[in-house]
Order: sequence, then structure tokens, then C-alpha cells
Amino acid sequence: MKVALVGIGKIAVDQHVPSIAASDEWELAATVSRSGTVEGVPAYTEIDTMLAENPDIEVVSLCLPPVPRFDYAAACIKAGRHVMLEKPPGATLAEVHALQAMADDAGVVLFATWHSRMAKGVAAAKAALDGKILESAHIDWKENVRKWHPGQDWVWEPGGMGVLDPGINALSILTEVLPAPVHLRSGVLQVPANRQTPVSAELKFTGNVTASFDWLKEGEQTWTMRLTATDGTAVQLKDGGNRCFVDGEEQPEAELGEYPALYARMADLVRTGRSDVDLAPMVHVSDIMTLCEREAAPAFEW
Ligand code: NAP
Repeated sequence: MKVALVGIGKIAVDQHVPSIAASDEWELAATVSRSGTVEGVPAYTEIDTMLAENPDIEVVSLCLPPVPRFDYAAACIKAGRHVMLEKPPGATLAEVHALQAMADDAGVVLFATWHSRMAKGVAAAKAALDGKILESAHIDWKENVRKWHPGQDWVWEPGGMGVLDPGINALSILTEVLPAPVHLRSGVLQVPANRQTPVSAELKFTGNVTASFDWLKEGEQTWTMRLTATDGTAVQLKDGGNRCFVDGEEQPEAELGEYPALYARMADLVRTGRSDVDLAPMVHVSDIMTLCEREAAPAFEW
């Protein structure tokens, strides 16, 4: 299948391009980006030109930040192409609902991807908790924004989500592995005085689920989750969901890595004509933005 990549920046270069190149199912047939390109691949700067000149490209994968993504997705769906959305799938819930309705009307596939759900230990954690009752859970998602998003000012703008941009990855895992849904009870966001979005978050959900997100963590980076069921089952996810321990014992990991697994899933969705749009992680982020207290934090500079 031919795929076009849109928004040739950090994640496109780090993950999408190598995952497509390593797959027998996919061919990177074009890029659309205002300045980014991929060597040897026809490059466009306008989405409409790429769509008009390449009727054989069935799938478009959008790697732009969330705010500009909607117009590109709408243009692709209107042109009858299947669409893959990077996480978070949009800047607002309503715009993703709109894309879903447009895709259904056009008879094309829409895949709202959650790469962390494809981390190698997530399926084992889900299986270990299946049919159980959760007693408690805690998430620590602590990383250094300067290392992982150097100079990306959009993360501090409205719709950029701040620390909830990585935090939504944790929430995508949580909503995948929990045996029953939870919802936010309260929380505190720290927002740098000169920015629009939070740099840290302390969150309390129903079901004794708590989360601690920090975007200024120096040294060791922490992406871990502990979940305990009422029957005593203890599940621990480490390395962003890539390692799973049940009652202290490490579980066999999934074969494919996160992005190769996303492209394998997209190929399957296109073959079977099904969309996959689960907005549960984004509903939590929207609730966090609605319900949490705000505290002023020191100004953030790169
Ligand atoms: P990025 O490098 O800052 O942006 C990707 C590309 O999008 C840019 O290089 C730019 O390419 C284009 N772009 C940026 N703003 C635009 C605008 N207003 N209009 C049109 N094009 C624009 O961002 P990223 O880190 O790759 O993240 C993109 C998405 O992937 C985000 O939703 C993020 O949450 C997700 N993601 C990121 C990571 C990560 O580690 N960075 C990991 C997983 C998922 P041109 O200037 O060439 O147009």
C-alpha cells in the first residue's frame, strides 16, 4: 500500500519513516511538509497538490502537531483517502468526532493511533487484569521536555497540552489495561507563568487511581505504572509500557515495536474497511483541563 507522510518533523523521522521502510506492506510514496523532506521520496509542500497528483496513494499518515492537523485530515478524507492520525488525534474532541463522521460518510478508514498502547508489555498487562477488580493504580510519567521536544514551542500553546502530551500516552495505556473505566476526581496543574499549558500534573481518579506527570525531570526518565487487583495480582509496567511484570515476574513481550505495530494495524484496518477511533485518553485530558486547579510555576525557557 502506498502511504504519504505529512509533517516531516521529529516523530516522522524518528519512527514513521523507519517503520514504513522496514515493512513489506507499505511504500512511502510522497511527503507533504513546508520544509521537511525524506531522501528519495517525492516531496510536496501543499496537501491538495499531493492528493491531486497521486490518486494511487490510498493512505495518508498525519504527523503534524494536533492543532493544524484537522484541515489536513479533512482534505484527505474529502479526497477519498484513508487517514492515520498521530496522537493526540486532534486539538478538540469535537473536531475528531467531525472527522469520524466525515470518514464514515466517505467510506474511508480513520485510525486514531495511540502508539503507547502498542508498547511491548501492554497486552500482557491487559491480560493479567482481565476480569479482575482494580484495587489501586499509580502512574509516574516524568521526563525532560528539553530532551524530548527541543524547541517545540507548539507544546506550550493552546492545544499543545504541555505535560499532557506525554501524559496522554500513559492515559492511553491506562484506558487500555483497566478492567473497568475510571474518571477524574481532582487534580492540580502547574502552569509556567509565561506559557499556556501545564508543566506538571498531580491527578486523582476514581478507583484509587493516581498519576504524577512531570516535564522537568532531569537524570533518569520514568515512565512506569503500578496496578493492583483485589485478588492480589500486582502488575507493573516499565519503560513506557514496554516491560510488564506480573507478581514480580517479567512477561514475554509482543513481537512488534510501537510504530511497526501501528502500521500493521492500519494495513489490517484498510483491508477490512474498519475505522478505529477511541477517544477515551483524550476525554481524560479534556476533563483534566476542565476540573484541575491551576498553580503558577516559574517561567519556562528552553
Ligand atoms: P514537530 O517535529 O514539532 O512537528 C512535526 C512537523 O509538523 C514539523 O516538522 C512541521 O514540518 C509540521 N508543522 C508544525 N507546525 C505546523 C503547522 N502549524 N502547520 C503545518 N505544519 C506544521 O512535532 P513532533 O514531535 O514530530 O510531533 C508531532 C505529533 O506526533 C504530535 O501530535 C506529538 O504528540 C506526536 N508524537 C511526538 C513524539 C515525539 O517524541 N516528539 C512521540 C510520539 C508522538 P514543516 O515545517 O516541514 O511543515
